[in-house]
Amino acid sequence: MDSKPSTTRLLTRSLWSPVLPVLVFLLFLVVAGLLKHGIEQEEKSQLDSSIEAEATTLARELQQDFNAHTLALRRMAARRMAQPDLPEAIWRADARRYLEHFGTYQAVEWIDSDFIIRWAEPMAGNQEVIGYNVAFSDSRRRALQTSALTGAMDVSGVITLKQGGTGLVIYEPIGQAEANMGFIAGVFHMEQLLESLNIPRVRKNFHIDVLDKVGPIYQLEAQKPAEKEFRQSVALPLPEINWTLQLTPTTGWIERQQSLWPVFTFLTIALMGLLVSLAILLVQLVMKRNQVLTRTQNDLQQEIYTREAVQQDLVRIESTDALTGLANRRFFMEDLAHTLTMADRQLRQVALIMIDLERFQTLNDSLGHQFGDELLVAVSQRLDSLSDERVLVAYSGGDEFMICQQQVEALDDVIGLLGQLQQCFGQPFMVQGQEYSITATMGVAVFPQSGLDADLLLRNADIALYRAKENGRNSYQFYTEGMQDREVMRLELDNDISVALAKDEFVLFFQPQLDLATMQVGSVEALIRWQHPVRGLIPPMDFIPLAEESGRITDIGRWVVLAACRQLAEWREGPLAHLRIAVNLSGRELDDDHLVDHIQQALERFGVPPDRLEVELTEEIFIDNLERNLNQLTRLNKLGIHLAIDDFGVGYSSLAYLRDFPVDLLKIDRSFITRVTERHDDAVITRAVINLAHNLGIQVAAEGIETEAQLNFLKNHRCDLAQGYLISRPIPADELHALLVRGIIFDDLTSLK
Ligand code: C2E
Ligand code: MG
Ligand code: MG
Repeated sequence: MDSKPSTTRLLTRSLWSPVLPVLVFLLFLVVAGLLKHGIEQEEKSQLDSSIEAEATTLARELQQDFNAHTLALRRMAARRMAQPDLPEAIWRADARRYLEHFGTYQAVEWIDSDFIIRWAEPMAGNQEVIGYNVAFSDSRRRALQTSALTGAMDVSGVITLKQGGTGLVIYEPIGQAEANMGFIAGVFHMEQLLESLNIPRVRKNFHIDVLDKVGPIYQLEAQKPAEKEFRQSVALPLPEINWTLQLTPTTGWIERQQSLWPVFTFLTIALMGLLVSLAILLVQLVMKRNQVLTRTQNDLQQEIYTREAVQQDLVRIESTDALTGLANRRFFMEDLAHTLTMADRQLRQVALIMIDLERFQTLNDSLGHQFGDELLVAVSQRLDSLSDERVLVAYSGGDEFMICQQQVEALDDVIGLLGQLQQCFGQPFMVQGQEYSITATMGVAVFPQSGLDADLLLRNADIALYRAKENGRNSYQFYTEGMQDREVMRLELDNDISVALAKDEFVLFFQPQLDLATMQVGSVEALIRWQHPVRGLIPPMDFIPLAEESGRITDIGRWVVLAACRQLAEWREGPLAHLRIAVNLSGRELDDDHLVDHIQQALERFGVPPDRLEVELTEEIFIDNLERNLNQLTRLNKLGIHLAIDDFGVGYSSLAYLRDFPVDLLKIDRSFITRVTERHDDAVITRAVINLAHNLGIQVAAEGIETEAQLNFLKNHRCDLAQGYLISRPIPADELHALLVRGIIFDDLTSLK
């Protein structure tokens, strides 16, 4: 399994090894040597064949020369035959001519048929041979006899000449057999024969050896240094003679013939090898250097990363408050400046909220700094839970926090966040095993209305905070200079709700609901009003939606339930003891897990039976959080509380949920009733709702009845309850008491009975 990687590793290691260039160089050397050897061999074989050609040419020339000699001798023999009595002087003149022509002869002789040399030309130097019997041995005699008999030429071979030295004798018989008149013999030295050839070039460049079976007979130029390995031999094609011609080139000639190519090739390839090896060595060095550089670079990079991390840590530490872990004031202000620049470009608003903790200083002074620190941490954690990509929470020091909300599209966004912030302080904080309730006062400045830069915004938020403290604790105040009146009014109203709850500025008005079967008032709807100290009586539509946005509706709802229960308790002993009160709950209030517990506690606190209370909800509860809402309503239903669907017919088209939810009453929306007697479709819908409800076992009420015609229509169509200005406007409790006791309703409506 490991063999592959290990082979690769081995290969890589050998690529890096300094042995590699050496090996490559040696390889080139071997190739160079082989090539040199090959070229040398090729040249040698060329030399061999050229020497051989030279030897062959020489041998042929020798043969031709030799043949010329034998022909000359044969002609002399023929002439002697033709003229048997040829005078000696003429023969000699003939012979001399031949001798002059062929300078190679030692002598030309006439030998008689008894093999005795009779005449010899030239005489000088040859006197001793006259009378000499050339058949000096048996073999010579036999050869000569055969020649005389057959007429064929005889060659003596190399013999010791009577004249001295060694030589060759060619015997050409004069006539054959009986007619034989002896021989014409040519005596010559082989050296002379060779020398007679015009071969100065050959002699200059070669040793020339003529050999018989025994060994060398003649040698020319034997004294020059020669190269024996280039020696070439060819057989001499001479009649009767079995000789070999041998050419051995001189060292000088060989040197001249040999080219520089083998050496040049060898040196070139060796040089190439050297260069390639050097290149490999260079590449290895460069790669090693690169490796070292890369390693160094990696180390440096690592170092940079570490430093960056340290710097980031430093920045984080610098931008964070050590105690609370929240952003510190310096970072907050820098971030705010940046946020404002962005918001300016995107035409968005930014809210800066300053929070001041109440009671903190007192607690800190009395319970110690350790306690103060722990409390701040607890508050910080709760505030930090609101931070997200749009909300930055920072600790400013002392008992002050700062919050920046960006991407604000409308002031409602800010009000929503303020509501959440107040909820943060709704529950007590657990410090050192004890619970402490803390409230907060907040000042808000909104960019761009309340300031165009971070410092101005901060200053104005501070001013707003100061005003909030003056107005009463546990509230907030916007810096409204620069804002439009409508915005200011909304903000003030929202802000005032918290004060209104504390100062008990809300009141409940009651509007009777007439039972159309008995024509008795069995129930009243509680409708909230705000008795504002400055603005007077404010209708619910002016502040309920605001309270729903800020989440303050939960507190209002609790107040309404308590007030209704208190009222029921007050009526318990009097003539209104039979009345049921219907309270309006906003859908958002169902989100409150403690809603049912709170209602139950209120009922118990005032000793009110649950069926005295009715809860009105609009169809929005069928849209979201179905499971949760069903669960809340089921719990209320189990308590014995009545449930009514308010404004029925305008909110939600599906009726399927009526089957699942425990509903006691449907209140047909006023928009259908207003023209129920005029518009056919409104009448149809109203009748349909009445029938639907009755079929489901649910009671029906009609709201907004202002005319007797409307009342009659509803009565005729068996609507159960009627509510509207015709019967009574929403009125305070004491007026209701007076009204019902006086029985005005009954007097006014007697015509309907
Ligand atoms: P709603 O629950 O549908 O209340 C009936 C509204 O119709 C009341 O207005 C009432 O004064 C008005 N009304 C009754 N009869 C007539 C009539 O014959 N003609 C006309 N034109 N109007 C009539 P109001 O008191 O201003 O209340 C408005 C809405 O405010 C209520 O509508 C209810 O949704 C909400 N609301 C009132 N009190 C509370 C409360 O305590 N809590 C909550 N969450 N909402 C409340
Ligand atoms: Mg209502
Ligand atoms: Mg209604």
